[in-house]
Amino acid sequence: MSATGPEAAAGVDMPPRPASARPSRRWQRTVLKISGEALASSDTHETIDAPTVSRIAREIAQSVTELGVEVAVMVGGGNIWRGSTGQGEGIDRATSDTMGMLGTVINALALQDAIEREGQPTRVLSAISMAEVCEPYIRRRAIRHLEKGRVVIFAAGMGQPYFTTDTPAALRAAEIEAQVILKGTHSGVDGVYDADPRVDASAKRFDEIGFMDVVARDLRVMDLTAITFCRDNALPILVFDLMTPGNIRSALAGEPIGTLIR
Ligand code: UDP
Repeated sequence: MSATGPEAAAGVDMPPRPASARPSRRWQRTVLKISGEALASSDTHETIDAPTVSRIAREIAQSVTELGVEVAVMVGGGNIWRGSTGQGEGIDRATSDTMGMLGTVINALALQDAIEREGQPTRVLSAISMAEVCEPYIRRRAIRHLEKGRVVIFAAGMGQPYFTTDTPAALRAAEIEAQVILKGTHSGVDGVYDADPRVDASAKRFDEIGFMDVVARDLRVMDLTAITFCRDNALPILVFDLMTPGNIRSALAGEPIGTLIR
């Protein structure tokens, strides 16, 4: 996720509200979007950092057990490959995007392994068929897994090039009738701000913000396609800091952390 730039403040006059203004709400079914880079280590430069994956897995598993919330994870692949990287190297865009989607499968398997080591059953459902490795994505099967208390991990995005995993997160959330997309950030920015808090100490975090304000302010919290899809389908997005321990549970519990876009 790129943070909000200073230019983002221009255009719409909507004062930020303190996080305490938003009441807690319980989610029953959620899609948790985890970027691939959140699984990497900035210290050791490991593509997949086992302690980080374990920590995320533990929080997911404990939340499912203790809160009874249904969790489907859409995992990205940016720690391994992005389509735009290859395009810059002269690789055909569709091929490069397919490489990126395969990267998300690697991350999905890492997450599956870590979550199951916590004693929580999971299923990886891939948008690209690979029968020897995981199940294909079938909407009704995804819902059935969730109803049975399994964590569903969506791999390969939506199986189509020219997208990132943001839009499939929104699409799958609508398909499985999730109440919210929990968009975890890993850049140290814990929500949506009126300026980049990493360069502007006076930047204020929004407690809530409307979809159209996000678009008008050019706040790059998620791909525009995903934002407009969520607006059209009245699907709220919670932007929160995934890397702070305890936050995944708080987000899944519907506590008023981060910024709610709706
Ligand atoms: N990708 C794609 N179609 C999809 C989802 C992903 O082509 O439906 C490719 C795209 O090239 C993207 C890469 O997979 O750059 C990795 O996904 P993403 O950039 O969303 O990873 P993240 O930034 O979340 O780690």
